[in-house]
Amino acid sequence: MLLDNVSLLVAVGVSSIAMMAAMLIGWAGSRRDSYLISWTIGMAVVVIGIIILGQRGGPFVPLYQFSSYFMLVTGIAIIYGGARQFSGEPFAPLHVAALWGPAALGMAVAYLLGLSGIGTIVLNLACAIFMMLCARRYWQVRGENSMALSTTSVLYALTGISFLLCSAVLLFNGQWVLYGAPDNWAETANSIMSIIGLSCIGALSLTLNHSRTAKRHRQDAMTDPLTNLLNRRALFDRFGEDGLPQNTAVLMLDLDHFKQINDLAGHAAGDSVIQHFANILRANTRKDDVAARLGGEEFCVVMTGQSAETVAMIAERIRAGFGEYYLSHGNLVLRPTVSIGVAMAGEGEPFPSTLSRADGALYGAKRSGRNRIQTAALRDAA
Ligand code: GH3
Ligand code: MG
Ligand code: MG
Repeated sequence: MLLDNVSLLVAVGVSSIAMMAAMLIGWAGSRRDSYLISWTIGMAVVVIGIIILGQRGGPFVPLYQFSSYFMLVTGIAIIYGGARQFSGEPFAPLHVAALWGPAALGMAVAYLLGLSGIGTIVLNLACAIFMMLCARRYWQVRGENSMALSTTSVLYALTGISFLLCSAVLLFNGQWVLYGAPDNWAETANSIMSIIGLSCIGALSLTLNHSRTAKRHRQDAMTDPLTNLLNRRALFDRFGEDGLPQNTAVLMLDLDHFKQINDLAGHAAGDSVIQHFANILRANTRKDDVAARLGGEEFCVVMTGQSAETVAMIAERIRAGFGEYYLSHGNLVLRPTVSIGVAMAGEGEPFPSTLSRADGALYGAKRSGRNRIQTAALRDAA
């Protein structure tokens, strides 16, 4: 027969190895994606289980059967841990072991009692549960890439159902003891589903990994690495040349005599001052406001939907908040300050124009003594 069980097992083994190779290559490309390593290890354990299972053309040896089942359920448990990592949670070995332990124990007890059929039922049920849990994980995070993640979730669920059917057939037939490898339509369906599932999930996982990496690169290109604020490019991409909505404020902020801080306390201390200031900006802005580090010790904040009075109050909070900060270096105590220029966008005024007026006000604040806020005059109607 073309679809005899051993050939199907060989096909499952081969597609597992292909998936493993794909995962490893993916991991080599972005090492922080540790879920790929969990999957590779899980697949490797599954392949070992399949190789042992592949020997089942010969005489039926319960210990052989048990060892292969043990490897299968262990491998699939590790793959589930990887699915948890993929969805942004930790591998949680204790949680995974809490599901894996009873399954492994149940199989061991069944085989020790000579109930190989029950052992097989436990294996299939455990695999079905792990597959369903994987399906649930992918379903929960499908917002990230709905097509690929929903498909992966459905494939896991279908593979899980095929495992469930294997146990249902044995249960239905009352096969508590097996005298040969289980061989029925559900086993064939399970092998076919595993081949389809493994190859499609492998391909989809790589696609997902690529899109995640690309997204990360895009984010990195827009983020200032020292402060995690947006960088200059991101700020200009965001606002471009378009007219700003009414009640938009642009704040230009520049730390005072910053060069001295570097000179007196060192560049690393200077960096920590910049980071502290970025935290103050984060603490004083709302989710919809935009805070960016333009370079060096120069920052820009854009707020929308705020009156000039509120903006002035927030600017003062930032200035005063930073004023409370000090830095000890040897017996030196340094108290950095910030100067702020504020401009309210005129009706339909383009971002670069408002920014330049805020910059002018900042210059004024510097000239009139620093550690202060200056507001630009409203723009003349065009
Ligand atoms: P002012 O009050 O007029 O703004 O004086 P200032 O000293 O702050 O201005 P200036 O532009 O002369 O000096 C800015 C300094 O910021 C010079 C540069 O060495 C330092 N700087 C730029 N980027 C970084 C950085 O990423 N980390 C650190 N530690 N220092 C930086
Ligand atoms: Mg400065
Ligand atoms: Mg500067």
